[in-house]
Amino acid sequence: MRLIIFGPPGVGKGTLSARVVQKYGIPHISSGNIIREIVATGDKYASEAKPYLEKGLLVPDRIIIDLIEHRLRQKDCDNGYILDGFPRTVEQARFLAKRLGKNGRQINHVLNLQASEKTIIERLSGRRMCKKCDAIYHLENIPPKVPGKCDQCGGELFQREDDKPETIKKRISVYNEQTKPLIQYYRNKKLIRNIDTNEPLDEIYADVDKALSS
Ligand code: ADP
Ligand code: ZN
Repeated sequence: MRLIIFGPPGVGKGTLSARVVQKYGIPHISSGNIIREIVATGDKYASEAKPYLEKGLLVPDRIIIDLIEHRLRQKDCDNGYILDGFPRTVEQARFLAKRLGKNGRQINHVLNLQASEKTIIERLSGRRMCKKCDAIYHLENIPPKVPGKCDQCGGELFQREDDKPETIKKRISVYNEQTKPLIQYYRNKKLIRNIDTNEPLDEIYADVDKALSS
């Protein structure tokens, strides 16, 4: 199964991905985690990508496309994957379609996560992430058992630099301008499934399972 988890920043793509990974046993490919890792370790593209990441802007297509291409070539992607945060522009979506088409494969579903702007801002402002394993928490909605520590690995929780108020606003407008047009792109391909994330988690999971089994 090849899946895209789509939606504005803070809607819960990472949290939902973790659940899908557990249930369907396919790898989670988060473009945001890949970029953050590169910037943190100073790998190829680090100095070029850093200013975009900090400002809440999209890194240039050629960079992210190269990184995703590299990731998709790894063996664990042979039986499918969840793409979280990629594609985010029409150019990225075209790259993906072309790359998959070569092997006679395509994306099976695009889950379009939806929430009000108010909810999104609350989710982003309260979000905390594990330094070691990237697990996601929320101060009120998904608090860790021990404050400041990851339930899964004991790692230290931190607030992403781009989850601070000024950058949140920028990311939402970048989403509206550059990423939202992809909804129509995938609607035309009849792949979009809307998921209302204002419901309780159990209901969201049930909606997702239904969407994926159809
Ligand atoms: P969120 O979905 O919460 O906005 P991500 O972790 O997916 O956050 O992305 C964080 C940042 O990483 C983005 O603001 C952007 O700078 C960069 N990034 C991630 N994915 C892409 C992409 N597909 N294209 C360009 N930039 C990306
Ligand atoms: Zn952890």
